[in-house]
Amino acid sequence: MLKITNFFLIGIYLFFPILSYITSITNTTNYSKEKDHFYLSIALTLCEVLLLVLSPPIYAYSLLFFTIPLLIAYITKNKASIINCNIILIIYFLLDKIYHPLLIILILLSYYLFYLLFSKKDQFSKLLINYYFLINALILCIYFYLFSKKIINFCFIFIALFITIIYLYLLIIILKKNEIFINLNNKLKELEKERRLKTSMFKLTHELKNPLAVCNGYLEMIDFQNENKTRRYFDILKDEIKRSLTIINDFSSFGKIKELDKEELDINYLLEEIKDTLRALYIKNNAEICIENDEEIYFIGDYSRLKQVFINLLKNALEAKNKAYLLVNIKVKELKEKIKIIIKDNGCGMTKEQLAHIGEIFYTTKSTGTGLGLSYCQEIIDLHGGQIMFKSQPDIGTTITIYLPK
Ligand code: ADP
Ligand code: MG
Repeated sequence: MLKITNFFLIGIYLFFPILSYITSITNTTNYSKEKDHFYLSIALTLCEVLLLVLSPPIYAYSLLFFTIPLLIAYITKNKASIINCNIILIIYFLLDKIYHPLLIILILLSYYLFYLLFSKKDQFSKLLINYYFLINALILCIYFYLFSKKIINFCFIFIALFITIIYLYLLIIILKKNEIFINLNNKLKELEKERRLKTSMFKLTHELKNPLAVCNGYLEMIDFQNENKTRRYFDILKDEIKRSLTIINDFSSFGKIKELDKEELDINYLLEEIKDTLRALYIKNNAEICIENDEEIYFIGDYSRLKQVFINLLKNALEAKNKAYLLVNIKVKELKEKIKIIIKDNGCGMTKEQLAHIGEIFYTTKSTGTGLGLSYCQEIIDLHGGQIMFKSQPDIGTTITIYLPK
């Protein structure tokens, strides 16, 4: 009844999905909490299914093993897998009829109650392991006494309990270690960001040196006797100073935004307003913005920063104009929990290499560009908990898709 190989098999069904999850999450470049939760829920659900479908029946004791994925789901507070495991367990035991349905409901409910009682405390996992299995053992004993009246082998129960606790401990240790690894990974990313900011400071001084050197040169050449020449110099000086100010302005707003000033906004109203702001500039360049919208779509966001984001994107589109007429099409779609904004232009587009550099600070293909616009956009959309994605084909155009949570 209690063969070593059975425990070994159960171990494989438990560890295989969890280790696969850890391998995949530590190897993803764009780590996010949602992704982590999603992968973990898949792993735990898979554990549960593998255990139920493939593991050899060890009669009463199998119930202990079958609840391990559920316990881990509770410990990691992964709601999707809590629900999945509960449903799978209920269906399995109802179909299999090994246990009395009352016992299953009692056990699942007691896990849930325990979770509700202790989930706020940090020692949840310790408490769970130390006491809960005793409760489980008691429930099993009562079950055997009441429903089957078989003679229960306490020795087996305790062996099964012991192995369950060891498996659970090992899995928790692995998951905790993984957490440390993920934290380290995040810290590394932050350090990398800081390092990039530092190098960008050097780049900034370099970028500012050019216009200042130009200004200096012209100032030295100013000749007040020749009014025409001087006037031309002043125009150049003005342009160069303006450029320096743009670089400084863009840079000072970059990387510093910690908090957003959020309010309820209507996305269509916001877009119409931006269209108005850019109307003169667009008409002058033989370009047009076309907004496709049907009804009011409300969401929570930072009005002035989002306005800046869309102005940056629409200015980029205008600067990408390579045909007689530039059309920018903006579509807004309302999804369940987010809104989707698609901005499509028929400008010069980008090559694959250019696309790979998108969002990199100071990356620009323009002689007068600062390469800060898209980095700023990405930062603002990130702070909103949204996403921004670029698709582009040389000479055909660029499509930018933005998701913002409602
Ligand atoms: P800047 O506009 O100052 O160059 P950005 O960060 O706004 O800096 O843009 C970076 C680069 O991305 C641009 O230099 C350009 O090559 C490319 N780019 C951005 N938007 C578009 C677009 N709509 N079409 C083609 N290329 C674009
Ligand atoms: Mg730009």
